[in-house]
Amino acid sequence: MTLQIETIVLGSLGTNAYLLKNTETNHAVVIDPGMKPGALLRRIEPLQVEAILLTHAHFDHMAGVDEVRDAKGCPVYLHDLEADWMTDPKKNGSARWPEVGGAITARPAEYDLAEGQVLKLLGTEIRVLHTPGHSPGSVSFLWEDRLFGGDALFRLGVGRTDLYGGNERELHDTLHNKLFKLDDAVQVYPGHGPKTTIGYERANNPYA
Ligand SMILES: [Zn+2]
Ligand SMILES: [Zn+2]
Repeated sequence: MTLQIETIVLGSLGTNAYLLKNTETNHAVVIDPGMKPGALLRRIEPLQVEAILLTHAHFDHMAGVDEVRDAKGCPVYLHDLEADWMTDPKKNGSARWPEVGGAITARPAEYDLAEGQVLKLLGTEIRVLHTPGHSPGSVSFLWEDRLFGGDALFRLGVGRTDLYGGNERELHDTLHNKLFKLDDAVQVYPGHGPKTTIGYERANNPYA
């Protein structure tokens, strides 16, 4: 089975949407459909989308969710600690930056995510790690040696913890007891900025 991973950078905050595609079946999974998802919608037009996975419900990661689910008829997965963020601009952060996109809301997710859950999608297994701190319901998706980590870990940085529900101690715990425990070779696909690896971050990240 060959899974192809594509990055599509969306919106003025440069949020990475990821498209996981099984090249044999033309089925796909979308991770974090952010603001102004036109480029993503064009890309998935010929594909059957099995699911939209959200690393967390900040507006720059979920603003495009209704456009994608309406176009493709697919369900949305989100950690239950952020179940009510989709409909709440204060919680999803959009109320704080009105100049970016106004108050952003979306319909609630169809399915909850939880630590240790294994999603059977695209003919493979995607494991859910609860990686809170940047937000309480932040999760990372692990497929083989690829980690889609949202805003927990960036190349040489980590997610901010000063937004609604953020928690520095939880983020520290996520980094040291979960993410940095993964193998060196695990490739990290973050919510913003370039790819990195667990080994590189464990050696070079100022928070490691
Ligand atoms: Zn965020
Ligand atoms: Zn973000």
